Amino acid sequence: MSDEYFTHLSDEEKNIIVNKGTEIPYTGEYNDHFEAGVFICRACKNPLYESNTKFNSDCGWPSFDDEIYGSIKRYEDLSGGRIRTEICCSKCNGHLGHVFEGENITQKNTRHCVNSLSIQFKAHINLSKIYFGAGCFWSVEKIFKQVKGVYLTQSGYMGGNTESPTYEEICKGNTNHAEVIEICYDENVVSFQQLLNIFWENHNPTTLNQQGFDIGSQYRSVIFYTSGLQKKEAKTSIQSQQKKWKDKIVTQIIECSTFYRAEEYHQNYLNKNNLGSCGV
Ligand SMILES: [Zn+2]
Repeated sequence: MSDEYFTHLSDEEKNIIVNKGTEIPYTGEYNDHFEAGVFICRACKNPLYESNTKFNSDCGWPSFDDEIYGSIKRYEDLSGGRIRTEICCSKCNGHLGHVFEGENITQKNTRHCVNSLSIQFKAHINLSKIYFGAGCFWSVEKIFKQVKGVYLTQSGYMGGNTESPTYEEICKGNTNHAEVIEICYDENVVSFQQLLNIFWENHNPTTLNQQGFDIGSQYRSVIFYTSGLQKKEAKTSIQSQQKKWKDKIVTQIIECSTFYRAEEYHQNYLNKNNLGSCGV
């Protein structure tokens, strides 16, 4: 360990990073943090984890299922009477946490369990955001996840009257939340118009509160825009799409409101469960 990386740290940070301590679960600032960006080492600023590898393991600490190549060193840790694998920053050797395998929470089957105090978040400011509701979010997420230029997709709820809804609550149909996908994308690679085209091609925008066999307001067709430009493009796009449909397009175009990330088992659901589509 080279001391120069640690002199600027607070006592609390040193306790974790230098003395290999552990912060109290559910207290760290990044435990429940799901924005698009990169997590760097708090001591030496080495980039460690892309936020699109972060997931909610409900263990009380930030969890990632992959590291930025070459950024992490692993050590056998026999403390506490068990065998664990300690993870440290490869540049400064500061302590991050431990890594576990074989828990089957995400497809990569790996959980880097990291102290919030060991890392620091830097947002990817070049990315834009859009929220689409087009029926069951499982299929919608699978479709957009594979689009080039899409950095991050997350399933969640938006547009209802209750705070922090659960899947069970939204399925009762009286919260007015829609099942939506948050898409963080790079406009230099994929345009909003291209995303709109994919949105239109993959659901029926003329059936009110219904997609196929799924019936209820949570399945409504809706675009929650994050900018005036998106609003304008979405409205224009409805007009050109209408020519393709006999019935009237009922898609709502609404300004985005609080996004509530859905329970972890809904995230990347179809890929995680090796399913081609919903209802199979
Ligand atoms: Zn470091």
